[in-house]
Amino acid sequence: DVLISQIAAGEVVDRPASVVKELLENALDAGATEITIRIDGGGIQRICIQDNGKGIPKDELELAVTRHATSKIQSLNELESVLSLGFRGEALASIASVSQFSLSSYPAGQASAYCISNQSGQWQIEPSPASPGTTVDVQSLYFSTPARRKFLKTEQTEFFNCLDVVKRMALANPSVTWLVYRDGKLQSRFQESSWSARVFSILEPMANGASKPIEVQAADMQLHGAVGLPDAARGKGDMQFFYVNGRFVKDKLIAHAVRSAYEDVLHGDKYPSFVLFLNLPPTEVDVNVHPAKTEVRFRNARAVHQWVRQSIQACLAPSRA
Ligand code: ADP
Ligand code: MG
Repeated sequence: DVLISQIAAGEVVDRPASVVKELLENALDAGATEITIRIDGGGIQRICIQDNGKGIPKDELELAVTRHATSKIQSLNELESVLSLGFRGEALASIASVSQFSLSSYPAGQASAYCISNQSGQWQIEPSPASPGTTVDVQSLYFSTPARRKFLKTEQTEFFNCLDVVKRMALANPSVTWLVYRDGKLQSRFQESSWSARVFSILEPMANGASKPIEVQAADMQLHGAVGLPDAARGKGDMQFFYVNGRFVKDKLIAHAVRSAYEDVLHGDKYPSFVLFLNLPPTEVDVNVHPAKTEVRFRNARAVHQWVRQSIQACLAPSRA
């Protein structure tokens, strides 16, 4: 069973950033409004995520860290939609199988907090001094799977991949406060804010202080966010955030549409920075090409491409009043 979990872990949590993503999704699912992320040694040494969400009752702790135990599926019908979203109830079990893992939780209404940890193959539950919410502590990632560990990049690279995941989620969840510590030092703080304030807090430092809001509405599509302006638009690929119906995507079609718009107006700016949210009817898009990947499939790809390109073009072009 440990072996099965370790194999599954290769799928779900192939690097520190994927561990961070799974744990943050759980914290958001639990309704957290403040999330603290501590990353030591690029996440290989330690990833510790604390949330103030609804917590896990003592008698559900073991279920939560066991494979295929998801509290998010109530019926077979739901199973289908939930499966496709990647809620497979195996993230915690997978993470636990490739790390030194402990989880403390203090749900409202319980007298005190409890911690579940793996002690030489056995789950143990003990009282703990945790504060309300849940804290997941993942140490020595991949210590038992050296082959996996070999695939990791430098601590620096792994850390910034983790930070990218936090930024992606922070952008989509502005009403949550996010704190990121790197090796004990505060690295980033995204205070609870409005959507536009959050977008600018992440985009402005990247765009060197020059970006422009965009908000366009078509019959059944909506595009909003901000784009880095011409002079400041020279960034790197990691300054590009595109969301389809609230989900972060990294999609070739979209990337091409945005890049083309910049090229049309700026003639050859290959790495613009932008934060864009595209919303369209769920029937028009399939986000479930692969749950772990970030691609999408549009029903009418050409129309989406053209509209996104034109909308950004119009935003970037000097106004002709
Ligand atoms: P899934 O999210 O697919 O259900 P996970 O393995 O990620 O599977 O988590 C298992 C279960 O543990 C969740 O369904 C949830 O009930 C509980 N859980 C995990 N993390 C948290 C958290 N931060 N706060 C509250 N409950 C949590
Ligand atoms: Mg989960």
